[in-house]
Amino acid sequence: MQRFVADRMLGKLAKWLRVLGCDVVYLKGAAEEEILEKLQEGRTLLTRNRRARSWQGKGRVFVVKDNDPKIQLREVVKGLGLRDLDRAIFSRCLSCNHSLDKVGREEVRQEVPEYIYQTQKEFHRCNNCGRIYWPGSHAVRMRQQLREILKD
Ligand SMILES: [Zn+2]
Repeated sequence: MQRFVADRMLGKLAKWLRVLGCDVVYLKGAAEEEILEKLQEGRTLLTRNRRARSWQGKGRVFVVKDNDPKIQLREVVKGLGLRDLDRAIFSRCLSCNHSLDKVGREEVRQEVPEYIYQTQKEFHRCNNCGRIYWPGSHAVRMRQQLREILKD
């Protein structure tokens, strides 16, 4: 799986890529040096800044054209030839980009709403920020949206 760094304009795209399980560092207000550092670590830079093309020599740069995050996702998936997108879906924390661990239902009982505890079987917890995830209507909707976005 490719690793990415997304610059300030691409927060929503970063989130969509995380849904797919991609490792995406999102630098909201980063200075150029910080972005360059990530680029040199081997991350592909996702940016809307055309001038960033001049950094190609330092690493892989992908300039996103569209304004709409969903179309941007399509651009990235097609442009970089990302495959097997189903394999790692929902395996990463959408808010902090760390990976999720499977946890038992009892372990999260106190932390999730009673209704969720009663109706869900599978839970995952972010190993960094502690956020808890479960499949549910949100995930179903996201899968549908992804299918729409990435059809053909
Ligand atoms: Zn997290």
